[in-house]
Amino acid sequence: MKTINKKNNQITFTLEADESLANAIRRYVDQIPILAVDEVEISKNDSPLYDETVAHRIGMIPLKMDKTIDEKSVEQLTLVAKKDGVIYSEELKGRVSPVYDKIPITVLKKGQELEILATAKVGKGSTHSKFSPGLMFYRNSVKVKIDKDCPKEVVNVCPQKILVLDNGKVAVIDEEKCDMCEACVDFCKKVGKDSIELIPSKELIITVESFGQISEDEIFKRAIAVLKDDLKEFAKKISK
Ligand code: SF4
Repeated sequence: MKTINKKNNQITFTLEADESLANAIRRYVDQIPILAVDEVEISKNDSPLYDETVAHRIGMIPLKMDKTIDEKSVEQLTLVAKKDGVIYSEELKGRVSPVYDKIPITVLKKGQELEILATAKVGKGSTHSKFSPGLMFYRNSVKVKIDKDCPKEVVNVCPQKILVLDNGKVAVIDEEKCDMCEACVDFCKKVGKDSIELIPSKELIITVESFGQISEDEIFKRAIAVLKDDLKEFAKKISK
């Protein structure tokens, strides 16, 4: 396992794993218990948006999850606003707070008011995307095999800019960035050569992106933990 990139709530790493296992983990990202607003009481809404739209927008705001949050947690947030301008997520106040402060909820004009009591509960992304902690996707990694007679001009066709000239010969850098577009293979074929071969490796390149409730590392670990729990439960049932 090797980390390729880690930035902005996103991690990309290589892992030698079976695709079916990676896909099971990917699907279990939406089985991780996550906190989100589930009920909204709107006592005042002078904004141009319907109550239902305001409620939906609040539901989709990711909330920070500390270690005290468990599957039975219920948290309340209030929003009381009377001002001219955009009402952002930062105006939701409670023991838990939004991950991002500047998610627009609605707009008010001078003299207009918005009063909301929101109740957040823990749920799973498989029932509603507001409970989803993020995304996971993966692709196969390849080895780019380059013959000595490879035409130099091929370095200009790689969209990932990973083909370079090294001492006058074509070489590959950052091989894990190759997305198997085959532009280099096609270019070589057009000039009558078979100089580049893409050889699939056993490794997968996995990317996990967090919406902010829990970290991207935690998403991967917890998806595996929930998958393990379900498999244990399944094994118990079939052994009866
Ligand atoms: S397959 Fe595409 S991305 Fe990979 S080396 Fe060739 S041109 Fe570049």
